[in-house]
Order: sequence, then C-alpha cells, then structure tokens
Amino acid sequence: MVVGVLVELANQNVDKVFDYSVPESLIDQIKVGIRVLVPFGRQTLEGFVLKIKDSSDVSLKDIYSVVDSDIILDEELLLLGREIKNTTLSTLISCYQVMLPKALKAKAGSSVAKKLHTFYELKDKDYVPTSSTQKKILDLYINQSLISREELLAISSSSLNTLVSRGVLVAVYQEDYRVKYEVNRDSKKKLTSSQQKVVDSVIHDKRGVTFLLYGVTGSGKTEVYMHIIEHVLEEGKTAIILVPEISLTPQMVELFSNRFGNQIAALHSALSEGEKYDEWRRIARGEASIVIGARSAIFAPLKNIGVIIMDEEHSDSYKQGDKNPRYHARDVAIWRGKYHHCPVLLGSATPSLESMARAQKNVYQLLTLKDRVNGKSLPSVTIIDMNKEVKNSSSHITNRLLEEIKRCVSLGQQAILFLNRRGFSTFVTCKNCSYTIKCPHCDITLTYHKSNHMLRCHYCGYATTLPKVCPSCGEAALSDLGVGTEKIEEELHKLLPSIRVLRMDIDTTSRKGAHKKMIQAFRNHEYDILLGTQIVAKGLDFDNVTLVGVINADTSLNIPDFRSSENTFSLLSQVAGRSGRSKLEGKVFIQTFNPDHYAISFVKNHDYLGFYKEEMSIRKKLGYPPFYFLCYIKISGKDSSYLFQESLKIKRSFDRNLLHTTILGPTSLAVFKVNNIYRYGIILKYKHEDNLRSVLIKIINHYRTNSKIHIDIDFNPSHF
Ligand code: ADP
Ligand code: ZN
Repeated sequence: MVVGVLVELANQNVDKVFDYSVPESLIDQIKVGIRVLVPFGRQTLEGFVLKIKDSSDVSLKDIYSVVDSDIILDEELLLLGREIKNTTLSTLISCYQVMLPKALKAKAGSSVAKKLHTFYELKDKDYVPTSSTQKKILDLYINQSLISREELLAISSSSLNTLVSRGVLVAVYQEDYRVKYEVNRDSKKKLTSSQQKVVDSVIHDKRGVTFLLYGVTGSGKTEVYMHIIEHVLEEGKTAIILVPEISLTPQMVELFSNRFGNQIAALHSALSEGEKYDEWRRIARGEASIVIGARSAIFAPLKNIGVIIMDEEHSDSYKQGDKNPRYHARDVAIWRGKYHHCPVLLGSATPSLESMARAQKNVYQLLTLKDRVNGKSLPSVTIIDMNKEVKNSSSHITNRLLEEIKRCVSLGQQAILFLNRRGFSTFVTCKNCSYTIKCPHCDITLTYHKSNHMLRCHYCGYATTLPKVCPSCGEAALSDLGVGTEKIEEELHKLLPSIRVLRMDIDTTSRKGAHKKMIQAFRNHEYDILLGTQIVAKGLDFDNVTLVGVINADTSLNIPDFRSSENTFSLLSQVAGRSGRSKLEGKVFIQTFNPDHYAISFVKNHDYLGFYKEEMSIRKKLGYPPFYFLCYIKISGKDSSYLFQESLKIKRSFDRNLLHTTILGPTSLAVFKVNNIYRYGIILKYKHEDNLRSVLIKIINHYRTNSKIHIDIDFNPSHF
C-alpha cells in the first residue's frame, strides 16, 4: 500500500505531497484524512494522508506511524480545503491547518494529552459484601453502571481496594473533557409574530438558501437563533452559530448552555489548547450538536448540519486578514450550506454593504425585524458638537454628557461609555522641540499606559519606560496628547469621585475568565459605568443601562480606508443599541468633531437604510465594493529600496497582463514599517478579469524562493 502525504515545510510557501509505502502492520489503520508521521530528509514530519494507492513503480520510504486513529479531515473538509486554496491562492496545507485546533495540526509543536479519568465498573454481580461500607459502595451500582473513583474513595478507600483486588470492581479509564456545560434557569420566550415569521422562513428551507436577517438592536435575534436551532435538533441535525471574536462569546455561550446544556461545544480564543482539543473531538464524535464560536468554528467537523448562523455578520473579525489563507467565514458558511443543503442565516442590525446589496438583488433572501421585542422605541440619540463644546472645559467629557451621567447614576441606573482607543494618551510629544516618541521598530507613535508608566507600541508590542526628559532636546517638557480609555477613567474619578467605574479593554481583560467576571460584576450593579473599547460596543444586553456615551466618534472615521464610514456607522449604531433595552427609556450621546458627517448623522435616526443608500452611491462613484471587486497585494521585506523596485516590477506586469483592471500603487502602507519590516501595497479593482488568477500565481511562484521579499494576496480585503 502506498499513501500520498501532504506535509508542511516551515517557512516555505509551498505544498508538498510525497508518496510513502505503508508497512504491513499499519495497513489496517490507514484511511484518507488521518495524520501520519513520516521521514523527510533528516527530519520527521507529520502530514495528512490525502491518497491511498495500491503500489508504486519506484521504491519508497515507509511511514513511521499513525498519529491518531480518528479521521481528522473528513471528505467534506478535504474538499473545502481545496476550495479555499483555489479562492485565496494559499497553500493547501495552510487551508487544512486553519481548520484545526493547534493540537491537531500536522507537525504540532506541543502535544496536548487527553485527560483520563478513572471509573469503576461492577464485574461480579453475585458478590456478597462483607462490610457495611462495601455494601454502601455496591448499592451505588443499582442505578448506575460506572462510578467515579472520587465518589467511591469518599465512602472508603480500603473497601474500594478490597473490592478491586477481589475482582468485584474493575477500573475503566474514560476520557474526561475539560469543559462542561450545565442546563440552567433558562426562560424560553414565546416568540412574537414577526420573530415567528423569520423562524418559519428559515426552517422551511432545504435548498441551502442564504438569508439576511436585518433586525434592529434588541429585536430578539438571539431568541430567533435559539428557536431555529431547537427545530434543527428535533430533526436530528446539527447547527453552527458564529459570533465575532471573544467580545460576544461568553454571553452567547452562557445563553446557549443554559438552554441546551451539554449539547453545545464552544470554540474560541479564550479556551486553552487542551480545552479546544477536547471540544473539537467532542464535535467530531457527534457528542455535541451545536457549535458556538468565533471565525474558525466555521470549520467545526459536524456531520449533517441543519443550519449555519452568523451573528453580527458585518463584523470584520470574520475575515482572516493577517495570515494565509485570507478567507471569509461567510463564504465558507455558504459553501457548507450548499454542501449540507441547509440554510445559512446572516444576522445584523447593520448588515455589511455587500450583504445588503446581495439581498437587494435577491441573491440572499431578506428577512426583517424592524422593531424592538417589547415594543420599546430605539433610544434617542443626541449628537454633541465638540467644535463648540470642548472650549468649555479641559476634560474630554463635555458638561452635557457629564450631567447625563450624573442623572443616570442618581436614578440608580447604569451607563456604558465607549472610546475606541486603549491606553492613556495616544502619543507623547515634547513641548520644547516638538519631538514625538515613536516605536524604534515601527512607523507609529508609542501609546502611554499610565498604570505602569510604560510606553507601548500597539503594533509590535515593544514597551519602554517613559523617559523623564525629551530624548531629542533633553528638556523636561514631555507631555501626552490624545486620549485613551485609561485617561477617561482618571478623568471620571476626578470629576465624579463617588461613581464606580469599570474599565474593560484588552489591557484589563487579558487574564483568562476576566472578561466574564467583569460582565457579571456590572450586571450585579457593582459598578455604575462600564467604560471600554469595542469590547463594550457589541452584543451586550443589560436591562439597567439607560445611557450610552461615545467619547469620540471620530477615531474610526479618520482611518484612511474605503470602509471607514461603514465601520463608523455600524459601530455607533451597535453601541447606541446597548441603551434602553428593557423597560427603561434609553438615551445616547455622541461626542464628535464631525457632527454633519453622514456616517454620524444617520445614527441619530437609526436610519440604516438611509445610510446604506448614501454609502452605496459613494461607493459607486469611487468604484469600490460592492460595485467592484478588490484584490490587495501586500509586498513586504527588510530592504525598503529593493522592495520598491520589485513592487514597481509587479505593477508593470499587472499593467501588461490585466487589461480590465484598475491598478493603484504601489504605495507605502499607512504604517510603513512594522517590526522592522517595510510594506508596500498595490490595489486591483475589477469587475471581470479572467487573467487575474494566473497572473497572481505566476507572481507568487516567481518570488517563492526569494527570502528578501514576501507577497501576500488578499481578495476582498476588509481593510487596507
Ligand atoms: P438582538 O440580538 O436583536 O439585539 P436580543 O436577542 O438580545 O436582541 O433580545 C433583546 C432582549 O429581548 C433580550 O433580553 C431577550 O431576552 C428579550 N426577548 C427576545 N425575544 C423575546 C420574546 N419573544 N419575548 C420577550 N422577550 C424577548
Ligand atoms: Zn512597534
């Protein structure tokens, strides 16, 4: 027997499938999709078996061993990997690796052990106990067949030993999973008639239709998802529900675990490698039928999928943009929906322009929930013009917003304050010579973190202490400008000393479980204000929050990107949607220097469709998606002048070969240098360009062995 094994070679952007012969002793274990250990030159590598053949004309090396007896890549995932390779132009091995938890990737560095647990089984049913504790132990077996070691030890360790030595009880070792879910006080809601309509449309589809659910914040989308999934389970099928990375996962996992208990499995970055490994295998073995997770959970090895749901479908965390394969979970969801003939449901209060445009053209089927569940109106939104306000005080919080915070707290209600920047200040500059402290490795200013007096680079992680004097002129004239969450926290403490503020951003939530604890503490009203970055903007559902304040709506607007208006509108709408979700009336205050910008003014009337129309007409004029496709070519390396020369060569080859494409660049990226690597970008805009893939593949192959230059290709980039 001969097998074709796909291996990954470190740092080589290349697929290698090699033939090996299979020794007699291993033949029984060989299946397509398992992992095997093979000799490769002087190394030993892990790889996936892709093909099985009878024999070969040439003599081959033997594989060493089979890594695990289970199939890791089933037929569907094997096909899906090829599809992703073709659409993203990545290596096949990278497409398979991205589907798997670290512990199951070929050539995993550290192996994660299964956690075994000892139970005892009753072998001799006729044994007559010789002591009262023996009887107590044996009585347990009246209702159960397996009892854990701990439970028996608690009765009597000597009796347990006796029973085992006499062969009455025998030990069995079962795998113990690290994560457990319990069904809890869940109050299933009776659906409103508009919710029911949505559920009915989705569950009646058996053709793999993609639905877009446009439902305002608080319209009860989560309840809709749960009802659909319940129906799918009744049919004996399984379900995937995707949520944007971490920010929404703990709450969603809690909601689903309360209702569905151990039927769920969660896959997200807050789990340890061991936990991920366990969850993955529970899914593969059919022991969990609902998978909840972030982007990569779309590859969950479920069989017989009955629905795939993508909550907050506009979120750019669904696109893997920082490494290959640069895939979008939405495309994978739709592919799997077709494979399983099951519906795909994309849900959002602010659908992405692409998805809404497809819904308008009936590529997706549009479903709408236009009202909040309880008949409550959406919160009132007030725009505070900082051009007029800021002169009144040195604080970043205007008097208007401050008064509202006081009022809200005095009524025993809670507020969420949002600012899209962590740290204390955004940069430190010298008042004497205007020198600004930058990262030595990146083209970006360092952010001051006051809590530990550190300057940090938010790109590469470089950190240094704040110098006492200016490194350039030597004067003690350094001052910090710009504002981050830490500074707002400090201002709040000064202005309102009695108010309890909880700050939530990557800096305060990095410890495992911290995020969940904070949400719980805020829900228990241990704090009056939840202050944070994007992490507080989305998905959270607190009854007692009646005030939302946006400290500075302009940070995301000023990013030079064709999606900055869309991102701003959607972020502000999402954060506004946290207010007044229950019985209490909600208010929203947005501080901005651009009060007339449409991305901000449409938020005032919760006018998604108004924003959609305006933004579509701008995209059309500028030739951006969804009217044109984009492909972004990133060219990076250490030698900036060599890089520029090569970037020009690449551009010229596009000029010669792509006749229906607009070619922009090469230009240096907004942050030109990161971690001592320089970056150039070329943007391709096109509607139809038959040559594109073959031209790109030629370029990839041309530079494959050139270590001085690295080429990344990103189709439909979520940003530049
Ligand atoms: P969305 O995800 O659309 O923002 P949620 O699903 O979080 O909205 O629902 C908002 C609130 O309304 C939640 O507290 C939820 O429990 C409640 N809710 C949802 N559906 C119903 C219903 N049919 N009856 C009563 N309450 C509901
Ligand atoms: Zn840096």
